[in-house]
Amino acid sequence: MDTKVAFIDKSVIDNIAIKEAAEVIKKGGLVAFPTETVYGLGANALDAAAVEKIFLAKGRPQDNPLIIHVADKDISPYVKKVPTLAKELMDAFWPGPLTIILEKSSLVPDKTSANLDTVGIRMPSSPIALKLIAESGLPIAAPSANISGRPSPTDMERCVEDLKGRVDYILGGEISAVGVESTIIDCSVEPPCILRPGAVTLEMLQEIRKDIYIDPSLLEKPNENLKPKAPGMKYKHYAPKAKVIIIEGDLEKTIEKINEMVLNYIEQKLMVGILATEESKDKYPKGEVMVLGTRAKPETAAHNLFETLRACDDKGLDIVLSEAFPREGIGTAIMNRLTKAAGYHIIKV
Ligand code: AMP
Ligand code: MG
Repeated sequence: MDTKVAFIDKSVIDNIAIKEAAEVIKKGGLVAFPTETVYGLGANALDAAAVEKIFLAKGRPQDNPLIIHVADKDISPYVKKVPTLAKELMDAFWPGPLTIILEKSSLVPDKTSANLDTVGIRMPSSPIALKLIAESGLPIAAPSANISGRPSPTDMERCVEDLKGRVDYILGGEISAVGVESTIIDCSVEPPCILRPGAVTLEMLQEIRKDIYIDPSLLEKPNENLKPKAPGMKYKHYAPKAKVIIIEGDLEKTIEKINEMVLNYIEQKLMVGILATEESKDKYPKGEVMVLGTRAKPETAAHNLFETLRACDDKGLDIVLSEAFPREGIGTAIMNRLTKAAGYHIIKV
């Protein structure tokens, strides 16, 4: 398949490329496009055949539901009812990185919701995404624009790397500001439950309702007693080709442990990378040091996380040792993605 690639300046939003991409969506094709979380791979959410193409292009498991992206807050056509809490959440956080799960209406094909009775909906804040959705006049189903299992793309080049030849159109325009996927809150259950942490944090959501909680299977390795609530949550995700190990605990002890492990791996002739922070980067004499961001502003680490994981592959690393982040605020989202990238391999110090 020929893939058209167009990069547009977000200040010139009335762009011919957006119109072309919207035409592709209307005709049942696939368009990768920027959002403020990560790049999405979009198709008409109401067209099962178009949505099926997303699963094929990504190699995505059929039981992993998609999120519907809308350009305004009138979600009534897609859900059975809009509860008061959902309205409050939309008013507080839309447009923005929060996906709300509600009981779906019959307009939403089972393909889009992976046969669930519920559907996830989000209104992104990216001006290009909003313009594309509005121009197509359709809700756009869009998972992240990567081959399944790989780190999500946060810029156009990474979409091209994964999807050129597999999709109709790749629209580039901005590096995703947030860098990790949206927070997902399930409002079809009582009390409402966070199924994926993101930039809209537990603390922020609890200001709207105190009993909102994080699904426990997000915080540790799912087991017999701790089953993930949504099918998509069980998949290993975000993984570079290198083996990733997280070292968690006091920062000084973490640095000591990482340095010890680095020497060991170098002796075995392995290429070792270190995911460090501004505060610690000068304390690693050996190994390929990569800075995720600053601990003073953990959102910088979220912003750089997936790009850094992909850069690990570019550098041909065998092993990647990552510092951990405090599991609070956006740190919960960072640790959720890192833990999955590491296949739950965490060494506590
Ligand atoms: P992606 O956009 O690739 O990160 O994938 C979207 C994720 O949203 C899936 O992996 C699911 O975990 C979640 N999701 C979407 N719709 C639903 C739903 N109806 N119920 C539960 N989770 C959902
Ligand atoms: Mg994804």
